[in-house]
Amino acid sequence: MEGTLLLNATYEPIMIISWEKAITLMWLEKAETLAHYEREVRSVTRSFQLPAVMRLRRRVKYRRPTVRFNRTNIYIRDNYQCQYCTKSFHASELTYDHVVPKSRGGRTTWTNIVTCCVACNRQKGCHTPEQAHMKLMREPAKPSWLPVIGKTLLPKDPPAAWKPFLWHTRP
Ligand SMILES: [Zn+2]
Repeated sequence: MEGTLLLNATYEPIMIISWEKAITLMWLEKAETLAHYEREVRSVTRSFQLPAVMRLRRRVKYRRPTVRFNRTNIYIRDNYQCQYCTKSFHASELTYDHVVPKSRGGRTTWTNIVTCCVACNRQKGCHTPEQAHMKLMREPAKPSWLPVIGKTLLPKDPPAAWKPFLWHTRP
């Protein structure tokens, strides 16, 4: 089930919370609901629509964190596309590749790790792209410029109800 996008009082997206937490915020009147999902939740006495986007009534201090370096964020940065054959894959069919192989001193960093399918990874082996005659779609970079919620990049297909709010305070 999708989470709820929580905005600061300034409308800046700050995190994704569970719907249980969202409903608690609603009951405590700490946040207002700006958009709903279609789906309803029923309790014995009443039913209500799940909040998709909520805004805190009081501003909290928030400094956007840097994007955490991990596998999921690399896949998201690269749009779940193998950076060599350019095909799209499910996360379970992907791996990551050291552009400059570890055995040649390549480091495990944003600028040397790319999303890669298993076949391309096998083909490239312990070679550089030039040696393997494989071309990168683009130079890998640290994605500080991509939308971040908490420490995770936005999912590939965020719920439609979030979309009007995701870019509100962004350049
Ligand atoms: Zn590939």
